[in-house]
Amino acid sequence: MAKKELDWSNIGFSYITTDYRYVSNFKDGKWDDGEITTDSKVVLSEDSGVLHYAQECFEGLKAYETKDGKIVTFRPDLNASRMKDSAARLEMPQFPEERFLKAVEEVVAANKDWVPPYGSGATLYIRPVMFATGNVIGVKPADEYQFRIFCTPVGPYFKGGAKPIVVKISDFDRAAPHGTGNIKAGLNYAMSLHAIVTAHEEGFAENVYLDAESRTYIEETGGANIIFVTKDGGLVVPKSHTDSILPSITRRSIVTVARDILGLNVEERPVKLSEVENFTEMGLCGTAAVISPVGKINDHGKEICFASGMDEMGPVIKKLYDTLTGIQMGSVEAPEGWIHEIPVE
Ligand SMILES: *Cc1c(COP(=O)(O)O)cnc(C)c1O
Repeated sequence: MAKKELDWSNIGFSYITTDYRYVSNFKDGKWDDGEITTDSKVVLSEDSGVLHYAQECFEGLKAYETKDGKIVTFRPDLNASRMKDSAARLEMPQFPEERFLKAVEEVVAANKDWVPPYGSGATLYIRPVMFATGNVIGVKPADEYQFRIFCTPVGPYFKGGAKPIVVKISDFDRAAPHGTGNIKAGLNYAMSLHAIVTAHEEGFAENVYLDAESRTYIEETGGANIIFVTKDGGLVVPKSHTDSILPSITRRSIVTVARDILGLNVEERPVKLSEVENFTEMGLCGTAAVISPVGKINDHGKEICFASGMDEMGPVIKKLYDTLTGIQMGSVEAPEGWIHEIPVE
């Protein structure tokens, strides 16, 4: 077989069905052996736990081709362990981490013709998802679950360079103190949809959520963590004292790159909204875009403008972006264990 004939640089971000997915079902207290299947449909009973009490969590990672033609993923072990944490918090069975990694390998290898070619900027987005298939009416955890991984090719996030975006301080909250903000659960997204649609209608690209307890500290956006750069070129990463920020793998990797490779001063600490005007650059980080530069925050009509401006990424964020994407693409040496090659025959 050969690569699919797609206009890789223009495929955008909608779901394109690929040939294969991985499915394993949990029943009678254990996971079955799991298999690669062509069936993209899920059939559920009307009283399935996921439909009523939102017992569901997911992950997101990418597979891509390197210069020398290998197919790799970036730190998939961290997705495996984060999904374990999400499942535990939602009283779902844990899918063993080594089986998660094996399943990612199998499903990517099966869909190798869908992995966009090196240099196209496109990647194969991998979506592991786990949900309650078992029956419930009374509120309790279900006793049957499905773990599934499917893939879809996605286009380059920034076409024609990363343009800084404008974000707003939201009046909605994303996550309750000591709630579920630190796990990757669909329920955190359901409640953010009204907030993001509203922000888009008002002309903003994203919402910045404050801590729900005091509404003084910066947390994150709906689907990306936040980083700031200080006047003297250090990195500041918001930390939540109510544990309501999602532990982004991109953000944790940026911290390592900044500290160990670029030798920047890095502070991970609670960041007040009132001190944001002292920073020179801001970025949103997550698997999809790696880092999106922010040019401006709108706080109820008051604009906080970063020195990096609205034309391009600031110099420190650019350096972080180039180094991290260089590590991912193989042009910068990766820290031990970060790049996971997919065995393909
Ligand atoms: C997935 C996600 C992120 C980004 O995490 P990565 O592991 O870097 O992709 C950030 N915030 C939220 C709320 C998320 O769901």
